[in-house]
Amino acid sequence: MKLITNRVYGAEDILPADVYRWQFIEDIMRKQAQSYGFREIRTPVFEHTELFNRSVGDTTDIVQKEMYTFDTKGGDSISLKPEGTAGAARAMLEHGIYNDGYPIKAYYFTACYRYEKKNYGRQREFHQFGMEVFGAASPFADAEVMCAANSVFQRLGVRDITLEINSIGCPECRPKYTAALKEYFSAHEEDLCDTCRSRLQRNPMRILDCKSPVCSEIAKNAPNVLDYICDDCSRHFEEVKSCLDAAGLGYKVEPTIVRGLDYYTRTVFEFVAPDIGTVCGGGRYDGLVEELGGQHTPSLGFGMGMERLLLMLKNQNIEIPEPPSCDLYVIGLGDKAKLKAFSIIEGVRNASLTAEGDIVGRTLKAQMKYANKVKARFSMVIGDSELENGRAILKNMETGSQTSVSLGDSFFSEFFAAYVEDDNTKLLTQLDNIN
Ligand code: ATP
Ligand code: MG
Repeated sequence: MKLITNRVYGAEDILPADVYRWQFIEDIMRKQAQSYGFREIRTPVFEHTELFNRSVGDTTDIVQKEMYTFDTKGGDSISLKPEGTAGAARAMLEHGIYNDGYPIKAYYFTACYRYEKKNYGRQREFHQFGMEVFGAASPFADAEVMCAANSVFQRLGVRDITLEINSIGCPECRPKYTAALKEYFSAHEEDLCDTCRSRLQRNPMRILDCKSPVCSEIAKNAPNVLDYICDDCSRHFEEVKSCLDAAGLGYKVEPTIVRGLDYYTRTVFEFVAPDIGTVCGGGRYDGLVEELGGQHTPSLGFGMGMERLLLMLKNQNIEIPEPPSCDLYVIGLGDKAKLKAFSIIEGVRNASLTAEGDIVGRTLKAQMKYANKVKARFSMVIGDSELENGRAILKNMETGSQTSVSLGDSFFSEFFAAYVEDDNTKLLTQLDNIN
């Protein structure tokens, strides 16, 4: 087979056989977000490029190298979202949501686009689950978003993940630190990579984030940001730690975390997993809303990479339960029986269970095989004699046990009785296994 084209480099298809994993995780994320008082926001996949230049920052790798930017036919510069915060902040401001009072708590699922080299856990189109809080300066807010992210990992049964936190200060104390970094890295200028050499003047803090082995080795002895932050930032950081302690969420202070986006102030954090690296990154961005033209609005949030989360679950052997694909498979033999089968199938579906019948013209034998393939829990064959007697045999495909059920009005109550009994048996077996 010769196709005219394949998917774009760095993009992945999520196929029907795998999508249940995404849906399972997304359901948990939705539930957790709701239990922390967040509501979903959906914003466009593209924005005016200016938004990202101003928010993500035009000295960052994302804006300088990774953004998918193009001119529209009308001559506007548009970029595909490289992250989710900027769009959420813009929408919050544009629609005056702040008029409803603070805090505004929003969560989102979004595709993100970054022109990066494809690698393990690194794609050009990837997906994030994110949470943002606008209008909350209290350290409780910092702890709350970290607890919310952590609650997703806990619900999924993740064992091996570390929360690393740091404070990168505020516009008051940052210049002092930046000056110290400039002085330190200038002494190592020749050894730095080309990118970091240019970072040295424009944004030396970015050097701490460089993934080149030489730069990260040099960065090990760089001045520690926590020695430079002002009293207010220091107090805030101490209070965040107390809140995390009160919530029982363990963490490690990691002074080299600076995060790849310009808008962060004070608290920054990452959830890091072995072999994967950062699965979730976030922090406080008290200056962002003002930067976009709004009032001063202390805010914070995180982005969690869905693909990396899935890789982490795989590495930690965490099974995601496959949903039942078919509760009942009904086979009709003969024209009249086929119509009866079809009406029963529709009835079961309307009762929110899953049912299937033949739509491709398979023989009886092939249908039985197919019912096995789709892991049907029950099957039933309706032929002439079943139509005549008004009863058919409901077969439990796992245990092989058979029950006679009415094909009349009481079919549904009899079928559901068999279904519930099967559920109970499974539960009791599970309990037996636990005991
Ligand atoms: P990294 O340092 O790995 O490049 P980052 O600091 O650029 O990550 P963020 O901008 O903080 O990442 O994005 C938040 C999360 O989104 C990351 O922790 C990761 O899980 C995910 N992510 C970021 N870039 C990619 C990518 N290219 N492919 C897949 N997931 C990504
Ligand atoms: Mg990156």
